[in-house]
Amino acid sequence: MEKITINNEKCLRCGMCTSICSDVFEFNDNGDIEVKNENINEETKNDVKEAMDNCPVEAIEEN
Ligand code: SF4
Repeated sequence: MEKITINNEKCLRCGMCTSICSDVFEFNDNGDIEVKNENINEETKNDVKEAMDNCPVEAIEEN
């Protein structure tokens, strides 16, 4: 996992990813999800993976 992005066309703004991993995902002022920390480290890796697995529309993409 090098870098993650949100596919805003798919994202439902459900807030699942932010509740699982608020260190990485947050709502911005437009109500979109923003990846506030693109550097995924050992600590956040598992949470990011969990968020990806739980996103209902697979809008969290690995690049
Ligand atoms: S879990 Fe998926 S659909 Fe829900 S806010 Fe996060 S990216 Fe969007």
